Amino acid sequence: METTKLPSAMDIIKKYDGPAIRIMEVCGTHTHEIFRLGIRQILPPQIELISGPGCPVCVTPVGYIDEAVYLALQCGVTICTFGDLVRVPGSAASLAVARSRGARIQVVYSPMDAYDYAATHRDEQVVFLSVGFETTTPASCLAVKKAVRQGLDNFSILTANKTMPQAYEVLKGSADAFLYPGHVQAVMGTAICEKLLKDGISGVVAGFTAKELMTALAVIMVKFSQGKPFFKNCYPRVVTPQGSRTGQAVMEQVMRPCASEWRGLGEIPASGLALRPAYNAYDARLKYTVPEMHGHGNPACRCGDVLQGKCRPSDCPVFAKGCSPEHPVGACMVSHEGACSAYYLYGGMLHE
Ligand code: SF4
Repeated sequence: METTKLPSAMDIIKKYDGPAIRIMEVCGTHTHEIFRLGIRQILPPQIELISGPGCPVCVTPVGYIDEAVYLALQCGVTICTFGDLVRVPGSAASLAVARSRGARIQVVYSPMDAYDYAATHRDEQVVFLSVGFETTTPASCLAVKKAVRQGLDNFSILTANKTMPQAYEVLKGSADAFLYPGHVQAVMGTAICEKLLKDGISGVVAGFTAKELMTALAVIMVKFSQGKPFFKNCYPRVVTPQGSRTGQAVMEQVMRPCASEWRGLGEIPASGLALRPAYNAYDARLKYTVPEMHGHGNPACRCGDVLQGKCRPSDCPVFAKGCSPEHPVGACMVSHEGACSAYYLYGGMLHE
């Protein structure tokens, strides 16, 4: 019996002659991997990849950096943070500048590292900078729960945790299809993607290997050409429809939805997570009565437009001129998930 050989993702991509498609890489890791793997170079010219707001450091607003600097310099606490945040410019200073002025800034790799630091430095007040999406938020919740269990009273967190569904709503119309972030959907499942499909929003969940990314892009090309909204989970080895019940449960137990400020997108109702009142003692804003800070970024920086897919990093007037990974002007050039740093590192590969 003869079998029909299905075309490979590479065949579909190389032979694509359908309509133009704008695809938003919601996740910064997708942006970097697509560049790093050279996938942009094999895409037909009518496929445009645009960056989205899926880099947690990039969407954290300037005012949050100001709050952290305030805690470090005015309140004398030890800041435990992921390394990227240290170099993000605040209104007047970054945490790196604060460190040069005597602040204690400790780089950690997880919220539990920050917990451990607090547990072994009981003479210091320790604040963990809790930023990130549904992927990393459960770990912050677990660190707070452990602090409660152990009666660790020199540990608190400064929340800027965010959730993606409300951002998708804001981004409606900015792309023909979303490349949904595999890590976030692994925790949250695919219900939001199905809901967006009912609203006419197309997208596919993508993994991170070359094969997974090319499959996801090929599926978008095939489905988009059929002219109807679509959703496909192209990362089924990790993403299930229901997601991680454990991760969802711990977030639900420890945090509540709140309005949140996104760099570039502004304040989005119910798009953030704050600690529930039962955990007020571990909320650094309350513990240290942090004043409200609005933050002012460098006016030349177009991170806000980059994060909404309204311009490419290379359209920013200071890209690779005043702004580079060594001397970042905005957050998108600092983070290893940022679109500007991806364009800077791999820009020579662009077919422009
Ligand atoms: S190149 Fe620098 S200044 Fe321009 S948008 Fe990117 S991070 Fe901001």
